[in-house]
Amino acid sequence: LEHWTYVCESCGHTESIETEHWRCPVCGGAFGLEGPNRLIPDKIDPSAPGLWRYGHLLPVDTSDAVSLGEGMTALVPGKLAGRTVRFKLDALLPTGSFKDRGAALLAAHLNRIGRRRVIVDSSGNAAAALSGYSAAAGLECAVFAPAATSPGKLVQSRAFGAAVTLVEGTRDDVARAAQDAAANDRSAFYASHNWHPVFVEGVKTWMLEVWEQLGGRQPAMVFVPTGGGSALVGAWRGIQALPGQPARLVASQPAACAPVVSAVERGTSIEPTTPGTTIAEGTKIGSPSRSRQILAAISETQGTARAVSEQEIVDTLRELWGQGLYVEPTAAVGAAACRQMILAGDTLPAGDIVVLLTGSGLKATETIEKLIGDD
Ligand SMILES: [Zn+2]
Repeated sequence: LEHWTYVCESCGHTESIETEHWRCPVCGGAFGLEGPNRLIPDKIDPSAPGLWRYGHLLPVDTSDAVSLGEGMTALVPGKLAGRTVRFKLDALLPTGSFKDRGAALLAAHLNRIGRRRVIVDSSGNAAAALSGYSAAAGLECAVFAPAATSPGKLVQSRAFGAAVTLVEGTRDDVARAAQDAAANDRSAFYASHNWHPVFVEGVKTWMLEVWEQLGGRQPAMVFVPTGGGSALVGAWRGIQALPGQPARLVASQPAACAPVVSAVERGTSIEPTTPGTTIAEGTKIGSPSRSRQILAAISETQGTARAVSEQEIVDTLRELWGQGLYVEPTAAVGAAACRQMILAGDTLPAGDIVVLLTGSGLKATETIEKLIGDD
């Protein structure tokens, strides 16, 4: 673990793996991790639970693992607009979303550095994942959520024993309340999935699994719903660890909130944007903290970014549900971008097309009920 170092994506400042900082203390930028991020096939340990099979390239020691069996989700063939693609079913993880990969690592990491209280600001899948893994690790979890959050979205966190605090104001006000709560308590840590680099190192395992599931090769193109960017940057970290031609990453966003798409189209850095209305709530992030890593993930894999309309998201959801794939609206954003390219006649590269399905439909019963009521 001494081989792993935090590196600020903006100014290059470094911190040790034991650092108490969740973002760069010099410039406020997001950290990434540098370390032995190379997959050595002989070192994959099939006897370890879930994603811990990749222990040799994780910044958390496997002996500190807290596992609910996360990892090695199915990669199944299916169709989008008549074309065969492969769906990576991360909706099947223990709390119902890909965020379990990051939460498993982050809970184990915080446990090891002696933090007993995990503080998060989220009302969605990250809160559920960190609450669940805190429960598994015997840690306290406090969730700060916007006052306007529908109560149903917090049920899973509360069931796991998290203390939920509702905060009036903007999303930034909620984040600040969580950060203040952590700053005033030495046993606590602000464990934001949007900031913490250990979280991303857990998420990268989805791409390592895809490589194994394809028989030891990378896909040609990969579609990823992108809000805060942990699924996308995680995919990139996985690609960096793998041999062979890098998979091309396509960051997929709802048109109502597409700061990454705008930046890629303009060839500029990511400008903060005010999110519009979208059913893909998990991607409604106007100012992603890991902005440089997101753009690097796209440019270094010769990928791209696509925006999809609300209608395209709904049409894609219906195609997925019609194949037995029960996902929430946010999870369909990557699939919608892929379907959009197929319908537009865009040339997709030869090889495997992989679409990450990030979250279970069971997360969004009320929204889905309304959508099918329109039929
Ligand atoms: Zn910095």
